[in-house]
Amino acid sequence: ESFMELNLSRQLLRACETLGYKKPTPIQSACIPFALQGRDLCASAITGSGKTAAFALPTLERLLFRPKHGNATRVLILTPTRELAAQIHSMIEKLAQFTNIRCGLIVGGLAVRDQETVLRSRPDILVATPGRMIDHLRNSMSFDLEQLAVLILDEADRLLQTGFATEIQELVRLCPKTRQTMLFSATMTEEVKELVKLSLNKPMRLAA
Ligand code: AMP
Repeated sequence: ESFMELNLSRQLLRACETLGYKKPTPIQSACIPFALQGRDLCASAITGSGKTAAFALPTLERLLFRPKHGNATRVLILTPTRELAAQIHSMIEKLAQFTNIRCGLIVGGLAVRDQETVLRSRPDILVATPGRMIDHLRNSMSFDLEQLAVLILDEADRLLQTGFATEIQELVRLCPKTRQTMLFSATMTEEVKELVKLSLNKPMRLAA
């Protein structure tokens, strides 16, 4: 199977080619068609499986084909650590290099002021760690999640071990009910199952 058969736009196919991706990994083949249909996903996948592109490519495709009204962030990706957030951010910038989609990074350890500037610029996609994201949502008058179309919960098992489980639930509740949600986890613990129940609507369950 090729990326072409997955019905991705030319700009995204060109990015895959530039990155040297010859064909989709199993998790990409499994996730991308359902994600493109707008389905919620619950996927068992570990780092190294190509899961970042599995959620990033269909999300970018959606942003390309559903032009936004006004200026608002439409995708939030939550991930447990700064390092993972930085990696996802960098991967998305590469996959989006032939589009005008913008991605911002919101993590602890960076100056709060600089991050407020990032939020005010309303990037299409935000990659964030939960603690810092919640701080901004509680304290910022100029930022909310009302236009959010896609929520991605990456490494959900570890996400729930960051000490912010309650805050993550709060964040999910702040997102519009009409959003699409994709949850990825290496393990399906009881805590993850609770989060699945709270955040996903009739999810496709996938493993690769
Ligand atoms: P991830 O599991 O998202 O952390 O990705 C692991 C590594 O696989 C990253 O370095 C990606 O750039 C790479 N990768 C993702 N998708 C593909 C693909 N279809 N073909 C080759 N490499 C890929």
